Amino acid sequence: MSPPVLILVSRPVVGMSDGRTDGDDGFRLADAGAPQLSVFDLGVTRGDGVFETVLVEGGRATDVDAHLARFARSAHQVDLPEPDHTVWRDAVAAAVAAHPPVGSLSVKLVLTRGIEGTGVPTGWVTAREAPDFAALRVEGVRAIVLDRGYRHDAPATSPWLLLGAKTLSYQVNAAALREAARRGAEEVVFTSSDGFVLEAPTSSVLIREGGHISTPSAELGIVPGTTQRRAFEFFRDEGFETEAVRLRTSSLLRADAIWLVSSVRQAVPVTALDGEPLTVDAPLTARLNRFLSGR
Ligand code: PLP
Repeated sequence: MSPPVLILVSRPVVGMSDGRTDGDDGFRLADAGAPQLSVFDLGVTRGDGVFETVLVEGGRATDVDAHLARFARSAHQVDLPEPDHTVWRDAVAAAVAAHPPVGSLSVKLVLTRGIEGTGVPTGWVTAREAPDFAALRVEGVRAIVLDRGYRHDAPATSPWLLLGAKTLSYQVNAAALREAARRGAEEVVFTSSDGFVLEAPTSSVLIREGGHISTPSAELGIVPGTTQRRAFEFFRDEGFETEAVRLRTSSLLRADAIWLVSSVRQAVPVTALDGEPLTVDAPLTARLNRFLSGR
């Protein structure tokens, strides 16, 4: 596997262009194998930052604008300054160009509140070969349902919980996946404490009931998925009705099929929920994944 590529972003947010010199793009290539980050960076000490993960296939980055829009939304939600769209877009392109050609790359954009006391945000982009999820997209995952512990209206009543922001603090999500492993599963579907379906720790949830495909709506404090949006295009082309709504946990029990969708892993069918087997429509899943790959 080729070594990962690192781009340090020196002008990550709007308003940092003062003192800019000719030929300064606002980022530079750096050695991913060498120490680069301060131990006092708030991204490290507090998980205080936001990120995005973009899939690159055959050298083409998928949905960069949608990812950059969500990056800006997350930054706004945690009161970070607005990321400089042009600088990040070019930095992503530079990271892709610097990586030897491979099938799929996972490109990660990170913006933190910076070194404590400086008020200067830190930004970087990494590009590394994506794991091969081909088998998982066919075989699927077993999931368990876990209560995230907040009511469905917590995003409105308690915005400081930062629900729905793609922050660096994914420790709770990782703990939920370990809980799944303890219960003999690989994935989790989070629900609100008052019984609404939310999302998985690193993916969006799609539910098929007959000719209907639904996903929980973003006002429930979930990360609005770029893959979910593209999957909906596919399903509409296939003649399904699609909607983003409030879904009661009971809809999981009625589901004809459930998928977890995300940028790099794409669409993974859920084969069992809390130990109850679920049907998998293998041809439909394969077509969905072909669509998501742009093939
Ligand atoms: N929900 C959460 C919590 C996520 O972390 C992610 C992706 O990382 C998603 C949903 C899916 O988003 P996308 O399809 O844009 O990758």
